Amino acid sequence: MTSYVFTFGGGVGSSDPRSRDKTIVGGKGANLAEMAGIGLPVPPGFTITTEECVRYLAEGGDFSAEVQAEVAKALGHIESAVGKKFGDAADPLLVSVRSGARVSMPGMMDTVLNLGLNDATVEGLAASSGDERFAWDSYRRFIQMYSDVVLGLNHHAFEDALEIAKEDQGYYADVEMQAADWQALVAEYKAIVAAELGRPFPQDVHEQLWGAIRAVFDSWDSDRAKVYRRLNDIPGDWGTAVNVQAMVFGNMGDTSATGVAFTRDPATGEKAYYGEWLVNAQGEDVVAGIRTPQYLTKAARTRAGAKPLSMEEAMPEAYGELAAVFELLEKHYRDMQDIEFTVERGKLWMLQTRSGKRTAKAALKMAVDMVGEGLIDEKTAIRRIDPMALDQLLHPTLDPDAPREVLARGLPASPGAASGAIVLDADTAQAHAERGEAVILVRVETSPEDIHGMHAAKGILTARGGMTSHAAVVARGMGRPCVSGASAVSIDLASRTLKIGQCELKEGDVITLDGANGDVMLGHVRTIEPELVGDFGTLMVWADQHRRMKVRANAETPADCRTARQFGAEGVGLCRTEHMFFDDKRIAAVRQMILAEDEGGRRAALAKLLPEQRADFHAIFEVMAGLPVTVRLLDPPLHEFLPHSDAEFEELSDVIGIGTATLKRRAEELHEFNPMLGHRGCRLGITFPEIYEMQARALFEAACDVAAASGAAPVPEVMIPLVATRRELEILKALVDRTAAAVFGEKGRTLDYHVGTMIELPRAALLAGEIAEVGEFFSFGTNDLTQTTLGLSRDDSAKFLNAYVEQGIFPRDPFVSIDIDGVGQLVSLAAERGRATRPDIKLGICGEHGGDPASIAFCEKVGLDYVSASPFRVPIARLAAAQAALG
Ligand code: ADP
Ligand code: MG
Ligand code: MG
Repeated sequence: MTSYVFTFGGGVGSSDPRSRDKTIVGGKGANLAEMAGIGLPVPPGFTITTEECVRYLAEGGDFSAEVQAEVAKALGHIESAVGKKFGDAADPLLVSVRSGARVSMPGMMDTVLNLGLNDATVEGLAASSGDERFAWDSYRRFIQMYSDVVLGLNHHAFEDALEIAKEDQGYYADVEMQAADWQALVAEYKAIVAAELGRPFPQDVHEQLWGAIRAVFDSWDSDRAKVYRRLNDIPGDWGTAVNVQAMVFGNMGDTSATGVAFTRDPATGEKAYYGEWLVNAQGEDVVAGIRTPQYLTKAARTRAGAKPLSMEEAMPEAYGELAAVFELLEKHYRDMQDIEFTVERGKLWMLQTRSGKRTAKAALKMAVDMVGEGLIDEKTAIRRIDPMALDQLLHPTLDPDAPREVLARGLPASPGAASGAIVLDADTAQAHAERGEAVILVRVETSPEDIHGMHAAKGILTARGGMTSHAAVVARGMGRPCVSGASAVSIDLASRTLKIGQCELKEGDVITLDGANGDVMLGHVRTIEPELVGDFGTLMVWADQHRRMKVRANAETPADCRTARQFGAEGVGLCRTEHMFFDDKRIAAVRQMILAEDEGGRRAALAKLLPEQRADFHAIFEVMAGLPVTVRLLDPPLHEFLPHSDAEFEELSDVIGIGTATLKRRAEELHEFNPMLGHRGCRLGITFPEIYEMQARALFEAACDVAAASGAAPVPEVMIPLVATRRELEILKALVDRTAAAVFGEKGRTLDYHVGTMIELPRAALLAGEIAEVGEFFSFGTNDLTQTTLGLSRDDSAKFLNAYVEQGIFPRDPFVSIDIDGVGQLVSLAAERGRATRPDIKLGICGEHGGDPASIAFCEKVGLDYVSASPFRVPIARLAAAQAALG
């Protein structure tokens, strides 16, 4: 027999394990049952299951006779436990109706308190409590809450009426309101409801109850709940439970109180009780901001220099009991708890407990402390930290106490905070940065030719583009804070001015970005530096002991490599050589090479690039000191490097001595309709072998030089991009081997090196068995593999991807988290076929997915040897890899 309803409290707990299963009774319900089960004082109640919610929302309409009967029986359970009857005019039982999904979810229906009051029962409550003021106060609270959250009336009308009532009496605070004042207000409230609703406030207590139950279920499909679910990857088919619970009253005078508490400080992780409370108050008063709550502990009150007594001082007995509950709950749940309680005439009641939300810093401290206290083991500590939350600690962040004037809000594309002078193009950014100025690059959107400016800038702001736009991806890779898609930004390049929201600004004005929440602020806002030591370091050591996969970094500059190593990278998984080509000093030679009419012209230009590229590799091999470095030969379509403006063409013409008309014609010829599928990747190497030859030569010369100068011989891994066939790889591997042999001959030494390929086309994945006959390693380029498998352009999908995620077509953005069913299938198939040919083939992943915990878990399943992520994601990947290994 399925149960729709489970009871808790009142001494008779259910033995059915479903009664404590969060998926069935929701988090709140499960924890209430759990607390009651370990003997804590929990007001009795019952929970209607999430399954019933799912059924109700799917089928609509009425509740079955069984559900109604179970609710009636459960209500009877509360009645007999409390010794009062629901709707009894002499001594009424009142209940709260609370929503509670599997995970705590803002956006769900707010709690309704004091349900069961009407014109008759309010008199009974006054008589039985001996407190008329309390009874009418409770009734007015009930009408207001019920009207707002269940009947959908605007709460302002009620708030205004209360304000006017207080003014009329010359009162300042709610506490001055007398019984008769509340009673008069109740009459007004009822009049407001009747006028707005066209019918009176429901007097039938059962109608009140079922109305509230329906409202909780309906709230699962409210817009705010949907938005929250989308932002937090919560499936739409979980549903919410409803908790109906006997009321206890914190508003019964000065021996009553209500409060919220954490068993440790959720901001710092410090092992000290942390919380707030209010005397003679109910429910949300503490967080609603109507009255200023007081400190829970004497220590906190003294530290803050506050006068109103702490609970520890004002109610020592109830406080002592509460502190004992804190200890018990931490031991029971082995985690920091977020607790809600009420004291009714000196008696303590527990209304909620759950694992408390915390900052990344607090999460690390608590996890490490709890291992020290013997509360949890290292594996649990590793599992408990959300890898993505570490991001908060890896970038400078805004001082939370600093004042901020927010001009606009965009998408939190890359975390961290940055202040600087506005610059409107990449060259200006670089020029100013070279003079040592902090700049923020503000663009409509960015493209590969902005890279140098993005690198030079402290932060990046774009008016267009989503979380996986060029700006967002590159900024995350570089660890630059970025706010993207801030549509309130409009730029006028002609006058070098811009508007952000209502604010008129010009180039050079200072703004601050908060990449963690998308805020764009006026002026400079104070920041605090990241801390990578202490608990953070301890946890990383534990993670390293438990992970199987290696973690490498995607890095192409010595600075990036140093950052990567500092964050624990064990090699470079992707060194993109094209970024080196965009450098200001080299771009002329690159353009000369591209625009050359024949091989001779190209070779002349490449000769200029060779020493530059060799110097790049030299510096990288030095920093990486013998760790493996995977270098990808030139990948993007050549036209990305071309000049755009007339001025640029003229400048180039002067430098290389070819007329602008010829240059423009040649540029025209390079135009492609679909560059992503055009003349790029290994296709460049096949048609212009001298380019790859130059790169291979630069690489091996640098490797030999570094080997000669230091003990740690580099281990280059040469990676050929965008291979579709075995033959392509065969031709290009031969070229690389030939070049290596030539260089080794000249230098008089040989080095270990490997030649492999990226798997980023479906055909390459399918024919991985053949390709592995030639390639010694595979690196899954899942950015392109996602594009080519789904036929979806990363740069153009931002417009419609949201709709796809919202309608459940994709569980998540496939460029952020790997599409396991489709793209993942190709990855595991290629891994299998590659290994069948070459059992010791080295397998890794580069691209954005290498820093995404869910994708990392997938890589562990497939048995990849390493993941490669941007330097700032290396610690995240280390932790995620450990979690994946622990299962
Ligand atoms: P949320 O999920 O937003 O925290 P809750 O359901 O916990 O909402 O309710 C909010 C507040 O209402 C609680 O903190 C508690 O103070 C009060 N409350 C809820 N149920 C009761 C009850 N049965 N008796 C007294 N107060 C209650
Ligand atoms: Mg709560
Ligand atoms: Mg690629």
